[in-house]
Amino acid sequence: MRPYQIVHLLAAIAAIGIGTLAYFHYLSWWWLVLPLFLHQALLILGAIYIGWNFYLVSMHKADAVQAVALTFDDGPATETTAILDILKAEHVEAAFFCIGKHAQAHPELVKRWHEDGHVVGNHSFLHGFHFDWQSSRKMAQELEQTNEVIFKTLGKTPLLFRPPYGVTNPNLARAVRATGMCSIGWSLRSFDTKARDKDELLNRILGRLKGGDIILLHDSVSLTREILTDLIHGARQKGYTFVRVDKMLGIEAYA
Ligand SMILES: [Zn+2]
Repeated sequence: MRPYQIVHLLAAIAAIGIGTLAYFHYLSWWWLVLPLFLHQALLILGAIYIGWNFYLVSMHKADAVQAVALTFDDGPATETTAILDILKAEHVEAAFFCIGKHAQAHPELVKRWHEDGHVVGNHSFLHGFHFDWQSSRKMAQELEQTNEVIFKTLGKTPLLFRPPYGVTNPNLARAVRATGMCSIGWSLRSFDTKARDKDELLNRILGRLKGGDIILLHDSVSLTREILTDLIHGARQKGYTFVRVDKMLGIEAYA
C-alpha cells in the first residue's frame, strides 16, 4: 500500500468514527471537518514533496557513499553548451533530464551529452504547466514521445525519468509504471531557478551537501553555470567525488 492509500483509509475510519459519535450526540458534526482537512492537506503535500514517495516511489539518494551526483533539468537550454564545457574541463559526468521538445530542436546537444559521457533522462515532452492534471494515458504518451526523440538521436531508450516540477500523483505513478521507467528525485534541491545571488546559491548547496546526494540543478539558469566550477571544487575539497546518478544508484540508464 502506498502512503496515499493509507491516508485514504485512515481518513475514512476517522470520518466513520466521528460520524458515529456525532450521530449519538457525543460530538458536534463539525468535528468531521478535521479528518477531511487533514486528508486534503496530506494529499497536496504528498504531491509536492517527491521525497515522501507518497504516490510513486522515486530514488532520491545513495546510501553510505562519498560520492554525489549532479543532475540538470529542462535542457537543452541556453546554458547547456557552457555547462558541458565546464564538466568536460573538470572531468565530471552528470545527468541531463531533457524536455522532449527541446531535445527535438537540438539533437546536436543531445548527441554531445552522450558523447561527453553524461546520461540522458526524460523530463516529459512539453513540461507544460498542466502536465500533472492530465490523464495517465496522456502523461505516458509524453514520456514515450520524449523517449522516441532520444532514441532517434542516440539509438538508446532512456529508463530514467524525472517528474516535471517534482510533482507526483496517482496518474503519474500509473504512467511511469506503464512505460517501465524509473523515477529519479533528489536529496538536495538547489532552488537555482529562484536564486538571485551566486554566493547564496553556492553556499546553500555546499553547506547542505552530504554523501550520496542527488543534486537538482537546471541547465537553463545562468547562475548555475556561473557557480558550477566553484561547486565542483568546493565539493571535492570536502572529500566528495562526482559520479553519474545511474552509476551511484547502481541502476540501468537505458533499456
Ligand atoms: Zn523541470
